[in-house]
Amino acid sequence: MRGPVVAAGSPATPLDAADASHGAPAGQAARHVAFLRRLSAERDTFEYAATEHLRVSGVYWGLAAAWLLREPECMDRAEVLQWLRGCQCPATGGFGGNTGHDPHLLYTLSAVQVLAMYDELASLDVERVVAFVRGLQQPDGSFAGDRWGEIDTRFSYCALSCLRLLGRVDAVDTAAATGFVVSCMNFDGGFGCVPGAESHGGQIFCCVGALAIVGGLHHIDADRLGWWLAERQTRDGGLNGRPEKLQDVCYSWWVLASLSIIERTHWIDRPALRDFIVRCQDEEGGIADRPGDMPDVFHTFFGLAGLNLLGDQSLDAIDPVYALPSSVLKRMGVTRA
Ligand SMILES: [Zn+2]
Repeated sequence: MRGPVVAAGSPATPLDAADASHGAPAGQAARHVAFLRRLSAERDTFEYAATEHLRVSGVYWGLAAAWLLREPECMDRAEVLQWLRGCQCPATGGFGGNTGHDPHLLYTLSAVQVLAMYDELASLDVERVVAFVRGLQQPDGSFAGDRWGEIDTRFSYCALSCLRLLGRVDAVDTAAATGFVVSCMNFDGGFGCVPGAESHGGQIFCCVGALAIVGGLHHIDADRLGWWLAERQTRDGGLNGRPEKLQDVCYSWWVLASLSIIERTHWIDRPALRDFIVRCQDEEGGIADRPGDMPDVFHTFFGLAGLNLLGDQSLDAIDPVYALPSSVLKRMGVTRA
């Protein structure tokens, strides 16, 4: 049930490689779409219950994956939009991970990303969302994720991306926000979650993305950072998030998107990474963290996004900074600072 679909060394279009050269049933892309349809239909499973608290992000990953597969209508748009409205906190304007949950920057960004894909941002009371985000900026430029005050560079990215998508990045102190992100840069060129914390692929994506949004990429030592990122490739082609850790498909996004933003994707063995992601595809659809594991919506989206950054033109193009389809950003007129 969970074996790899396509062997290593597949041709240029991984999603169709099974059809072309290995005699497997046609249509891996169609199987991924069927996987996404099953996920949104099956609500009595353990997986559904276990991810209840982050459903808004789950819908973002699923919709973005469907968009890359050029099947954005495979989820029930009206149902998603109605439910999403119920996830907005009436008091603060921020979004929680599900209806009735406390608002948090992570889910507020996911909600804005979903509304952006559906071209429904006009239905949002933008100034209330802006006020929620602005209220979380600290005097040192950092952002708390919610009213409980945890500080993390992930939240700097969420805040700036969210505001940029709403056309209101001017609502916060971007110079202070930039200063905080830069203060989290390490001697190895990477970034951690707070000043002095060790470099990590996920944090690097957030910091490089945040700097790209506010026009601060000149603060990065691209060669030093590119070297650290390129060293994340393991012997079997996958990428890990830190030295000595296992490779994982989601780092095909965090690390590869960072390399893409600093224009150094050619510093890794791209065909080997592509083959790793292809081997993580489940024969019944979906992509897992590693070959043979259960697929999930998170790794399905970031696996597809990684394949597109590696040149798979059968997929709709993804933007490495905003993790949204480039066509959506073009429609919205969102460009890099
Ligand atoms: Zn992962």
